[in-house]
Amino acid sequence: MPLVSTKKILEDARQGGYGIGAFNVYNLETVQGVIKAAEKANLPAIIQAWAGIFRFGSVTMETLSAIVHAEAQKANVPIAFHLDHGESFAEIMRAIRAGFGSVMIDASTKSLEENIKLTRKVVEAAHSVGVEVEAELGHVGICKNSKEEGTANTWLTDPGEAAYFVEETGVDFLAVAIGTLHGFYQAEPKLDIPRLKQIAQAVNVPLVLHGSSYTPPEQIKEAIKGGINKINVATELNVEFVQGIKEALKEDWETPYPNNLTDMGREYYSKAVEDKIKLFALNR
Ligand SMILES: [Zn+2]
Repeated sequence: MPLVSTKKILEDARQGGYGIGAFNVYNLETVQGVIKAAEKANLPAIIQAWAGIFRFGSVTMETLSAIVHAEAQKANVPIAFHLDHGESFAEIMRAIRAGFGSVMIDASTKSLEENIKLTRKVVEAAHSVGVEVEAELGHVGICKNSKEEGTANTWLTDPGEAAYFVEETGVDFLAVAIGTLHGFYQAEPKLDIPRLKQIAQAVNVPLVLHGSSYTPPEQIKEAIKGGINKINVATELNVEFVQGIKEALKEDWETPYPNNLTDMGREYYSKAVEDKIKLFALNR
């Protein structure tokens, strides 16, 4: 079926009190991996691409978008397509033109007023062409080599500010900082569920959890109960894809083809996606 609206999938999840996985993709095999997992679980999924991969130059937005549209067309479950961590208005415009159904503008390291200003500008432009917008308030940092470094670049979302931010910007979904980090944890995260519940009461849009890789399943379940609907997973899946390739490399291929490696990467990645989809849908 054609790609579906991210907002529709997430509003359904909000009404039903369950979570939807948003899985980062890089190439044909990871796109196929998400769709295969969603079909096996018979549940919707969001395919998303981190804007950084396009800056690295390994694939363009247009090429990846063409792959996602073609593969989703064959899928028998709802699939949405989202830009993860867009940083500028120009980058967002290019993504919209390339065919993303929803976009994230991440101005979370800017001041509150600057975050509101840029987010509102993106929302006005995106909504005028039917594209939905995620923004971030507070800041989900990146794990570094020590616990201190990891938490030093994070600041948690204030519930009162969240209500003001959503009202001022008209954003469709809101990424919140409640104790997760991007990357590999040095110590187990401890999510601030009471804060999350306050935010969920203060705003009327689905909430997004970034940095979910390696967050203990019990805490993920608590976060979903507390109001999280979109759960982003990247790092943990990347590791699985590479592990699949490592396993394939152990085989003594008589006539090696590149897809002998990437097919195995896809299988490992897809199995991990399927486990996440099922975990997030527990309350469904
Ligand atoms: Zn993120």
